[in-house]
Amino acid sequence: DSIDERVTISAYSESKDAIRKFKFNILNDLAESLNQQSGLYLVFQPKVSLATRKIIGVEALLRWQHPTLGEVQPDDFIPMAESTSLIKLLTEFVIVRSVAEAKRLRQLGITIPVSINISANNFAERNFAEKLDHLVRDGGLLPQDIEIECLETQRILESTEALACVKALRRKGYAIALDDFGTGYSNLNYLRNIPADLIKIDRSLIENLKSDSDSRIIVESLINMLHMLNYTVLAEGVEDRETLNYLEQYQCDIIQGYFYSPPMMLEKLITLIEAEQNGTLAS
Ligand code: C2E
Ligand code: MG
Ligand code: MG
Ligand code: MG
Repeated sequence: DSIDERVTISAYSESKDAIRKFKFNILNDLAESLNQQSGLYLVFQPKVSLATRKIIGVEALLRWQHPTLGEVQPDDFIPMAESTSLIKLLTEFVIVRSVAEAKRLRQLGITIPVSINISANNFAERNFAEKLDHLVRDGGLLPQDIEIECLETQRILESTEALACVKALRRKGYAIALDDFGTGYSNLNYLRNIPADLIKIDRSLIENLKSDSDSRIIVESLINMLHMLNYTVLAEGVEDRETLNYLEQYQCDIIQGYFYSPPMMLEKLITLIEAEQNGTLAS
């Protein structure tokens, strides 16, 4: 081996080691935050009907204020947690908090469903459907108050247990959404194997509507096809009026994205919904 090569190899394994250590530390800190019930909280992003321009639901999204790193994004810790049993505790936290917040909305007369993101490993957990259902009912809510967003659909389909769990939840009356549709592959055929009510078209497809006519053909055809299969269709990541106009033209049912509203604390969301109900919101 040349010296150069050896130096490169050792630098490489050192950095791999550093990454491993970093991940280990992050997961430890996450476990600590969960334990102490501090630093983890939910924000909520409205889902808006294109036909009525009304908020018809909200999605709960996890946030983590790390003790020294500051705000850590879900994409930087949830995939890590998903590969360990920490995702179970994390999801339990999200369910309990979402149910409590949904209950608060109901006390204010706001009855829109709250959507929760659930990973493939959660569905594969023994008795997960029963556990979720208990948490919902113990919180004084019914299945129609909570919607389930399935993450990692491909992985759910690869697990008999996970798939059975999604089916059980739907039988219990929970609406099922397939998240991030259009990422990964072979997702057209998998629609035949997993029961769902709503399809969320991934932001990566939506963000190109303005700039690329092929994307417009793909999204329009996708919406038509999904409608023929009787799904409700939601477009994620709508950031501007032009994109919204295309989606309206394609008769997309629901939009979500910064154009209407970013995820926000519940207090702010309540103000927004009340303004809408009082008709003080600009359309
Ligand atoms: P997701 O479920 O597909 O959520 C949508 C993500 O897109 C959110 O990012 C949201 O803040 C962001 N977003 C919404 N509108 C726009 C927009 O107009 N433009 C852009 N650029 N982004 C937009 P966030 O909150 O960082 O979450 C990322 C992912 O982390 C989620 O993707 C979901 O897969 C996962 N996640 C978040 N919260 C939870 C949770 O409580 N449990 C689990 N298991 N996963 C979660
Ligand atoms: Mg989601
Ligand atoms: Mg998504
Ligand atoms: Mg996503």
